[in-house]
Amino acid sequence: MSKCAFCNIINRECESKLIYETESIVSFLDRDPINEGHLLIVPKIHVDSIEKVSLEVLNEMFILVQKIVPIYKKIYRVEGYSIMQNGGQFCDFGHFHLHLFPRYPNDGFGWTYPKGPFEYSQKVAERIRKELE
Ligand SMILES: [Zn+2]
Repeated sequence: MSKCAFCNIINRECESKLIYETESIVSFLDRDPINEGHLLIVPKIHVDSIEKVSLEVLNEMFILVQKIVPIYKKIYRVEGYSIMQNGGQFCDFGHFHLHLFPRYPNDGFGWTYPKGPFEYSQKVAERIRKELE
C-alpha cells in the first residue's frame, strides 16, 4: 500500500464509492461530504500542484465537472455548486484533486480568512502581470 490514500484508491487497494474512471483520472465520493454528492476528481498521477498536471488531464477533469453540474441540478434540484482545490503544502495527501459539491442557500459552507492589511493596488497587479510576460 502507498502512503497516499488517493493512490490506494486508484490502485484498488482501498475501497471507494467510484463515480467515474478513465486511463488518466478517477472520481469518487468524498468520505466526509460538505453536502451529499460531494465528489473528488483526481488525476492518476501523484503530484501536489496544478502546474505539474498536464493541460490534457486538467481538461478531462473539467469536462467531468461540466457533466456533473447538470446531474446535481437533476438529482438534488440545486442551482449552485462549489469547486475547491488546494495546492502545494495545502494539498491533502500531496495528491492533486478537485472538490466538487452541490450548494444550497444558507448551507453553512463559506470562506473564512483573516481580515489582514493586504494591499489591493495596481502595483500588486503589475508585479504578477510582469511575471506572466
Ligand atoms: Zn497519490
